[in-house]
Amino acid sequence: MERLVVEGGPPTWSGSWPEWPVHDEREVEAATRVVRSGKWWRFSYGDGSEAKGGQRSEVVRFQEAFARYSDCRYGIAAANGTVTMEIALRALGVRPGDEVIVPAYTFIATATAVLTINAVPIFVDIDPDTYNLDPRRIQEALTDKTKAIIPVHFGGQPAAMEAINELARQHGIAVLEDAAHAHGSAYRGRKCGSLAEAGSFSFQASKPITAGEGGIITTNREELAERCESLVWAGRRKGEPWFRHYELAGNARMTEIQGAILSVQLTRLDDQIAHRRANALLLDGLLEGIDGIEPCSVLPTTTAHSYHIYMLRYRPDAFSGLRKAQFVRALSAEGIAPVMEGYITPLYRNPMFLERNMWGGACPLDCPRYGRIIDYAEFAAKCPVAERACATEAVWLSQNALMAGEDETHAIARAIQKVQRRAAAIRS
Ligand SMILES: *Cc1c(COP(=O)(O)O)cnc(C)c1O
Repeated sequence: MERLVVEGGPPTWSGSWPEWPVHDEREVEAATRVVRSGKWWRFSYGDGSEAKGGQRSEVVRFQEAFARYSDCRYGIAAANGTVTMEIALRALGVRPGDEVIVPAYTFIATATAVLTINAVPIFVDIDPDTYNLDPRRIQEALTDKTKAIIPVHFGGQPAAMEAINELARQHGIAVLEDAAHAHGSAYRGRKCGSLAEAGSFSFQASKPITAGEGGIITTNREELAERCESLVWAGRRKGEPWFRHYELAGNARMTEIQGAILSVQLTRLDDQIAHRRANALLLDGLLEGIDGIEPCSVLPTTTAHSYHIYMLRYRPDAFSGLRKAQFVRALSAEGIAPVMEGYITPLYRNPMFLERNMWGGACPLDCPRYGRIIDYAEFAAKCPVAERACATEAVWLSQNALMAGEDETHAIARAIQKVQRRAAAIRS
């Protein structure tokens, strides 16, 4: 009789999965070159023209390459993809007490970047087909305090940028793309990061290209780029004395070692996306016949998808009522290591929001500059799709699932079918 691994049976797949991040001697050479040079920090502020001894900054080189790759004129590298959002929001004019629209279903950084500049995140529900910010739900969340919208290109699929940009234009507010998953993704032929006033990317270890940590802001606006650069560099200004600081800002610089590694990583990105796409299309086909499993829709406007995450919608009733967590555990035990439950609650259900534990108190939520009362528990009723995605529906396959071969992709579908056949037996 057929048995799942969780019942003591043999696994569907016993092979390994590709390691992430991908690296070879080129990253070793890049890092070694910087170490040998003795120039480990980013020595040139600005466009690199101050480079010493004819040597250009690795970070400047990478910024230029990544900006060009992302259809942008300017790239401002930074320490990570959280600080890039804080800086971009400040550069876009978001001030303490302002409100910023963010999706309810995203990584915490999308919302904490708003709070750490003393603004207030307002959660909006996601589209049930794409899990991206639902533009139909933004209008009702706008107030006279709204200063910006942050669409997240979740999993690598571009958000509904036309509708979002149009709303923002009508209300005179800014749009910042959280493109932390969307390196190389494109919307109607234009790269993510170039679809609004500014874009923010992360190079943390799990992201499509990485140096362990890192981030970048992309923009086509010169003044915005200058302001972001200043905020990365302790509030300095170009051409001004080194120890003169014009506004409050920390140090968010990227190291030269990161810059050198990222330049190598960028050369791999297009091939990796093509590889993931081929496996994603194969998996789409294999899952088509399985009741209760539906991949998120890929829209016609999505002309490139990084497939940072392959997102499934799971319907427990087609699996004898097996809970999502049990399904993920059983599938993982079958040898499908890159499967994940994803976020366990929408962002507003985190203790930091429910207990209003911000700066040792509720500030900025109780700040007179804000002057409103916000109860994050109330967002549950406004975000039924995010609630359902977390509780019962969303299942992720991380990008290295799609970095594998066709055999592994077939194994994913076979393992899901096996769990479905045995679901009643393990439900308990
Ligand atoms: C990873 C991530 C970030 C933040 O990036 P870090 O580099 O980890 O700070 C922001 N937004 C989303 C959606 C992310 O997944």
